[in-house]
Amino acid sequence: MNKKIWLSSPHMSGNEMKYIQEAFETNWIAPLGPNVTEFENTLQIYLGENNYVAALSSGTAAIHLGLILAGITQGDEVLCQTFTFSASANPIAYLGATPVFIDSESDTLNMCPKAMEEAIIDRIAKGKKPKAIIVVDSYGMPAKWDEISAIAKKYSIFLLEDAASALGSTYKNQKCGTFGDIGILSFNGNKIITTSGGGALVAKTKEIKDKAVFFATQSRDNAPHYQHSEIGYNYRMSNIVAGIGRGQMEVLEDHIALRRAMHDFYMAYFKDIQGVTVFTEPTADYFSNHWLTAILVNPGQTGGKTREDLRLALDAANIESRPLWKPMHLQPIFANDPYYGGTISESLFQNGLCFPSGSNLDDNDRNRIKSALDDFFKA
Ligand SMILES: *Cc1c(COP(=O)(O)O)cnc(C)c1O
Repeated sequence: MNKKIWLSSPHMSGNEMKYIQEAFETNWIAPLGPNVTEFENTLQIYLGENNYVAALSSGTAAIHLGLILAGITQGDEVLCQTFTFSASANPIAYLGATPVFIDSESDTLNMCPKAMEEAIIDRIAKGKKPKAIIVVDSYGMPAKWDEISAIAKKYSIFLLEDAASALGSTYKNQKCGTFGDIGILSFNGNKIITTSGGGALVAKTKEIKDKAVFFATQSRDNAPHYQHSEIGYNYRMSNIVAGIGRGQMEVLEDHIALRRAMHDFYMAYFKDIQGVTVFTEPTADYFSNHWLTAILVNPGQTGGKTREDLRLALDAANIESRPLWKPMHLQPIFANDPYYGGTISESLFQNGLCFPSGSNLDDNDRNRIKSALDDFFKA
């Protein structure tokens, strides 16, 4: 059997081991140390002025702490994009708060500003103003930040940007991860850069970053003994994995260029295929890192061939692909939570597919993908 072509697999620069080696040689085998500090500094410089980064154990941990910093507690309501990975919404439940799910729009596949404002107005009318909003840059595509930020500001609601997969993407030249009151990044194994597992919280002031680090290190008060006035968490990034992050930051721009080249490859291939749309930037304001290339299949125009037929055909050729996110409001665990919007996210799930998009795919892989697509669409 030929080797499996993955959707998105880790891609090392070669320097990661050097930083891990340094950690061993200096015995910084702990959830703090020079690699953590340097990784945070590099990210801060990358994101630009007035961004303060706390390196954490995962993107999920960053969302959890972000909601705590937003003051979310038991019984609060948090608006959340429905078209996302479950990790965007789970931390709402950790806090005993209620997620209110919102549909996407079809330009960026992210939070629909119109449905979002309708939900805010309706929740207020029902007697409960939402306390925070979680907006995602799905598959690396920036959300409609101008509209979304304006609405959040109009109603004075805390905005959390889930930029887990959008490091390096920009909207009007501003980097994703910096649009909310707090942003979060993920360095999970399948993301654009990885630390094997890890994440970061992006704060607007050093005080908020320091507070995130305080929560992430068990909320220790300033005392020689262990003294605690607040509930703490063990969410700090290890100095070992931060070494991987340092090595990965050196190749971030290369990884973005290579993922964008994969997207170009699919755009070129599907130019002449009826019934398949490759999802791309709606205007020049948007720059996506194209973490994953996503397509929509319209069986009415493909001679009845569906997204699932395509997925199975690729699977038979040992090529991984995956349906787009199953919306959170359709997940059994969130079935009883409120939902606002129409059926856009639902139809994205029905007809959408993500293709192999890794920065480590080569010509041989692209030829195999092309021939599997030829067999499916042209045979
Ligand atoms: C990966 C991902 C997360 C979670 O990040 P982890 O580091 O895996 O905890 C959250 N939201 C989105 C949209 C993601 O893609």
